[in-house]
Amino acid sequence: MNINDLVRYWGKNRPDHAAIIFGDDVQGWAELDAVSDALARGLAARGVRKGDRVGVLMRNRPELAHVILATLKLGAISVPLNFRLLASELAPLLQDADPRVVVTEGELAHLLEPGHKALGFEIFAADSSDLPGYNLLMTESGTAPITEVDEDDGAFICYTSGTTGVQKGALLTHRSVLAPGQAQMITHGISWRDRVLLAAPLVYTGSVISIFMQLVVYPGATMVLPGDFDAERCLDALERHQVTATTTVPVVWERMAALPGFGRRRLADFKFAGAGGAPVNPDLLKAYQARGIPVTQVYGLTEASGLASTMRYEDALTRPGFAGLPLVGTAIRIADSEGKTVPAGEVGEILVRGSHTMHGYWNRPQETAETLVDGWLRTGDLGLQDDGGFLKVVDRRKDMVISGGLNIYPAEIEKVLSSVEGVVDLAVIGVADDRWGEVPMIVFHTDQDPSVVAGRLASTARASLARYKQPKHAVALAQPLPRTFSGKLAKPVLRKQFTRTPSDAIALS
Ligand code: ATP
Repeated sequence: MNINDLVRYWGKNRPDHAAIIFGDDVQGWAELDAVSDALARGLAARGVRKGDRVGVLMRNRPELAHVILATLKLGAISVPLNFRLLASELAPLLQDADPRVVVTEGELAHLLEPGHKALGFEIFAADSSDLPGYNLLMTESGTAPITEVDEDDGAFICYTSGTTGVQKGALLTHRSVLAPGQAQMITHGISWRDRVLLAAPLVYTGSVISIFMQLVVYPGATMVLPGDFDAERCLDALERHQVTATTTVPVVWERMAALPGFGRRRLADFKFAGAGGAPVNPDLLKAYQARGIPVTQVYGLTEASGLASTMRYEDALTRPGFAGLPLVGTAIRIADSEGKTVPAGEVGEILVRGSHTMHGYWNRPQETAETLVDGWLRTGDLGLQDDGGFLKVVDRRKDMVISGGLNIYPAEIEKVLSSVEGVVDLAVIGVADDRWGEVPMIVFHTDQDPSVVAGRLASTARASLARYKQPKHAVALAQPLPRTFSGKLAKPVLRKQFTRTPSDAIALS
């Protein structure tokens, strides 16, 4: 079974059931199937063949979903491009993916210029602009294009969000993309009746793969697609459309909970409400759970088609801080630096094996060989498994601080300190230290007196953390901390800025 089979199946079997709700516009599955067929004919007429790449650079709008499905129907590979990148940041991705066609919007087309000059791909716009129009692509008539597509054919190249530096394109196949969809259906009972909110731009892996493919196309459910993202719009959509499933980064859940009147909203009963993609504070989950909203922690990464473990609500209540069990059909093990499995409860690198791991990095055989080893995906994340196999994500290996020979996990310190009164935003990074090699340092943003807040941070750290983990310095930033486009703390930016303790740092001990 491939993604195209599912779109055709739902188009035939539930033709009028809503596939996409965008504002007041509702498209049924038959319409989605037919529009993507028409577009596929148009793309084929422009020379797009099996294995070719088709880029999409658009804000959230139904046409984005249409182009993705049309691309897949031709056996071509869809390359979602992030419109928040600069033209200079997009150019190397375009160079790498080498698309035949990119479909965009008039307002975003300038971002393609440098890549277009070098590569000469065709550009179409989904809105009316000076560029050749999307409607032009739809004018080819004829029967639906039939391309033999195998489960193991490439479906997407998804570029990692770049939290750790170079953006690598993970090649995901039809099989790998769909596997977590099946697992989510089995574990959470997701079905065609669910209404699924997309709380981010559709071009992110967490959106296009974890939501559109796995929670919408797989079960034939309904995707609620808001326009530009903001927390208030998402909360409105949850209530207005009685959403029953979604998954997003913790900061989105945090922002929704902080909105005035949040407690008075009449939300539907959720089947699945995932938080993942970045460290998840158990207090945030508890606050939602106390209101009867079953937000649970999940774990995943682009290279595993977005998801590796998922948490049932009934398990979450007794295991705060854990990110669930491996997906059905997936194996997770925790390994030491030599790749040997460590005993339950011990921290090591999280390794994942299952049909959802990527085929490899596009054009990067060496990085692929380093990441896919003996059938296991090396995630670069540190974690542990308890006796029952539940996974706890400890931190990224690259974020770990080694102080006097002891491992310190900044994510653990951040969880303890981010709820201190007056803290608006906070991160912990390692800085060089003559005595210990490295020590943890707090970087925070506050709307109160920074030295008073630093005093509170120091006393909370003393009360809750072993001495070697207590940060030695704190730096107050006048503005919120840098984040990646998907809302994750941009630690490499902070580390670059603070290789040493700055002179205006506040000493904490
Ligand atoms: P890049 O690979 O370029 O650095 P990225 O790592 O942010 O970008 P994504 O695939 O978007 O790429 O995110 C996956 C990462 O998010 C995981 O490797 C992990 O570090 C983090 N993550 C996911 N789920 C959790 C979780 N439950 N708790 C803590 N961290 C998580």
